[in-house]
Amino acid sequence: AELIRIAIAGHGNLGRGVEAAIKKNPDMQLTGIYTRRPPAQVSPLTENVQVFSMDELKTHQDKIDVLILCGGSKQDLPEQGPELAALFNTVDSFDTHARIPEYFAAVDAAALPNKRTALISAGWDPGMFSINRVMSEALLPDGETYTFWGDGLSQGHSDAIRRVSGVAGGVQYTRPVPEAIEKVRSASRPVLTTREKHKRECFVVLQEGADADTVREKIVTMPDYFADYDTTVNFISAEELARDHQAMVHGGFVIRSGNTSDQNAQVVEYSLKLDSNPEFTASVLVTYARAVHRMAQSGQHGAKTVFDVAPGLLSVKSAAQLRAELL
Ligand code: NDP
Repeated sequence: AELIRIAIAGHGNLGRGVEAAIKKNPDMQLTGIYTRRPPAQVSPLTENVQVFSMDELKTHQDKIDVLILCGGSKQDLPEQGPELAALFNTVDSFDTHARIPEYFAAVDAAALPNKRTALISAGWDPGMFSINRVMSEALLPDGETYTFWGDGLSQGHSDAIRRVSGVAGGVQYTRPVPEAIEKVRSASRPVLTTREKHKRECFVVLQEGADADTVREKIVTMPDYFADYDTTVNFISAEELARDHQAMVHGGFVIRSGNTSDQNAQVVEYSLKLDSNPEFTASVLVTYARAVHRMAQSGQHGAKTVFDVAPGLLSVKSAAQLRAELL
C-alpha cells in the first residue's frame, strides 16, 4: 500500500516528537519539515528529510496527505490553524481549553469549503483524557469525574517562576495529592478544593545576591499560578538544574466513580505516566493523522475533534484484523 505522506509545520519539542513517532509507524513517511525560521537553523532527527520555509507550503499541496501543526497554542495555532486548514488536511494539539469552541469555528470555516479535514486539540489533555471523560460520563451518568495532573513538569508554571526577580532558572512540578486520589478511587465522590487535589513543587536557582526567603514568598503568593496551592520551593545549583530537571515528564489520571444502582458503585480509571510529554503528544498526533487521512478520503470534511473519530480508524490494522485480534 502507498505510504501516508506526513509533513511537519513548526519544529520545536512537538515537531521533533512527530519525527520520532513516524519512525514507529511503518505506513507513514515524512516528506518535509516547514519552519518560519531560516531552514538552515533547524536540525531534523530524520536522515534525508528536507527543511523548507513555511512560505513554500502552498506550492506543496500535492506532496502532502496530512500536515501536522506543531506550533504553540498561544501565538501560533490561532493563526496557522485556520490558514493551513484551508490548504491541507491537518492535525494539531491546540490546548487552550477555554478557547477551543472559537478555534474550532475558525478552523471549520476554513476547512469545510475547501474540502479539507482538520482535527483539532489532539494529544493527551485535551485528547486521550477528553475521550476518557466522555466515555466514563456516558457509561456512568450518575457519577463524578476527576482529572489529576502529574507528576509532571508544567511549562507555564516554570515560565512564571523564571519571571520572578532574583531567579536565574527553575522548573515547577505539579503533583497530585495521593490522599485525594485514594478518596476518589473509594467511590465516595468527595468534593475537593484546588489545594486538596494538587501540590506544586519548585526547583529554583537564585541569581547571585538574591534573598531566598524573598524569592520564595514571591513565588508562593503569586496569584493564579501558586497562591491557591501548597507550594514548596527548593533552592538548587545551576548544575543540579541542568543535571536533574531537563526531562519533560508528565502524566495524570482521569477517574470517574458512579452508581449503577443504590447498592453498587463503579470506578473507571485511565492513567498516563510519561517520560516525555512532547513525544507522547506527538505520538497521538501521528496516530490521528492516519484517521484524518482516512476520513478525508471518505469525504468527512471540516473541523473535527477526537470525539468524532472512531477508534478503528486510528489503527494501522484493518477492521477485519481488529475484530479477530483485539475485540
Ligand atoms: P515549542 O516552543 O518547542 O515549539 C513551538 C514553535 O516554536 C515551533 O513550532 C517552532 O516553530 C518554534 N520554535 C521551536 N524552537 C525554536 C527555537 N529554538 N527558536 C525559535 N523558534 C522556535 O513548543 P512545543 O513543541 O513544546 O509545544 C507546542 C504546543 O503543543 C504547546 O503550545 C502546547 O499548547 C501543545 N501541547 C499540547 C498537549 C496536549 O496534550 N494536547 C501536550 C503538550 C503540548 P518554527 O519552526 O516555525 O519556528
